[in-house]
Amino acid sequence: MNLENSGRLFERAQRVIPGGVNSPVRAFRSVGGDPIFVARGAGSRIWDADGNEFLDCVCSWGPLILGHAAPVVVEAIRQAAEGGTSFGAPTSAEVELAEMICAALPSVELVRLVNSGTEAVMSALRLARAFTGREKIVKFEGGYHGHADGMLVKGGSGMATLGVPDSPGVPAGYAALTLTLPYGDLAAVKETLSTRGEEIAAVIVEPVAGNMGVVVPPVQFLRGLRELTQASGSLLVFDEVITGFRLHYGGAQSLYKITPDLTCLGKIIGGGLPVGAYGGRAEIMQMLAPAGPVYQAGTLSGNPIAVAAGLATLKALSRPGIYEELEEKGRIAAEGIAAAARQAGCPVALNRAGTLLTLFFTEGPVRDWESARKSDTKKYAAFFWKMLEAGVYLPPSQFEALFLSLAHSQSDLDILVKAAGRALRQLCSSGQT
Ligand code: PMP
Repeated sequence: MNLENSGRLFERAQRVIPGGVNSPVRAFRSVGGDPIFVARGAGSRIWDADGNEFLDCVCSWGPLILGHAAPVVVEAIRQAAEGGTSFGAPTSAEVELAEMICAALPSVELVRLVNSGTEAVMSALRLARAFTGREKIVKFEGGYHGHADGMLVKGGSGMATLGVPDSPGVPAGYAALTLTLPYGDLAAVKETLSTRGEEIAAVIVEPVAGNMGVVVPPVQFLRGLRELTQASGSLLVFDEVITGFRLHYGGAQSLYKITPDLTCLGKIIGGGLPVGAYGGRAEIMQMLAPAGPVYQAGTLSGNPIAVAAGLATLKALSRPGIYEELEEKGRIAAEGIAAAARQAGCPVALNRAGTLLTLFFTEGPVRDWESARKSDTKKYAAFFWKMLEAGVYLPPSQFEALFLSLAHSQSDLDILVKAAGRALRQLCSSGQT
């Protein structure tokens, strides 16, 4: 495979951008080698700067649930752009997007649009602190909630990939306000909330974890979090930046029928443009300026182009049968890859929720960060490169989810499963690591 142009671009990039990328996982550090530079995408495919075509199983880390350059999204963006790209003043489209979000997620009575998932989480936690008059936040090991200071503690995603548990530059006093517990460990949550509950403003959780690879908790864990936070007067914050509108139109909370106090959204609600949102119970959200005293603002928040892309995406997703179709695609891919791994004699654990899945190179089960990190990351790296050679672009890290979209056809899924089968046979029969 010729990757010369990507190589040259990476060299140029490293002269002007730290590490050559604008977000760490893109740099391929955990799989080795240089990143491919993407020239364009259409449907389930991307093409790199050397003209290589790949079946894309990353989908921009989740926003592109309709696939690349979905015609309805492109047309919505074009129309919006022609009418002016930003006003810093209210528009009707923002109201429509907020109405769609509130209608989809019953726990969300009021919602505020921001520009990223990080901003949504950061703002939601400020609000939780203001509402409860408490300062501490509980998060879970391997959970990633964006890069706001207090959340860079025992995180997943790029931090898991790079093996950086905490980031320099985060004040120790700030990090000390975050308590970290093992994902899925309700007994630990009970212990913490019963002894220190009056200090804890919020418990934040990915209702299905996506940033240590996919980990689907037992529903009793999420129910338990709801009961325990209610009893201790702490808020339950669902970080649905990945799961919102992916697992179900109303997010994981609708699927599992659990009502958090606050919800963070991002990715899909922007249809591939920068959007985040946080929302929840009216009495909490009414504390936000200008309705209340908690400050949060944004020059480009709710800008017409991003909102148009989000609206077009949510409208497409609201058609009947869409989530059944997505579930079926996820099932076919997961069952196919799991069967291929069994035939190849590879000890792996495959976790899946809808169109999110991770093939962990460990016997498993993978239930939390402790069990996820047992994975053979060298083997994953070898798998990643074999798949790339076969024309399939996977997440360049063991600890990230593979994302499928509506644009992934049955024949795309066949390509994915066949390529995985071939790669796994080579990896596991030769004892290669
Ligand atoms: N929360 C979760 C669960 C995420 O997966 C991410 C990003 N992958 C974020 C928050 C941060 O979102 P963003 O990258 O848009 O800041």
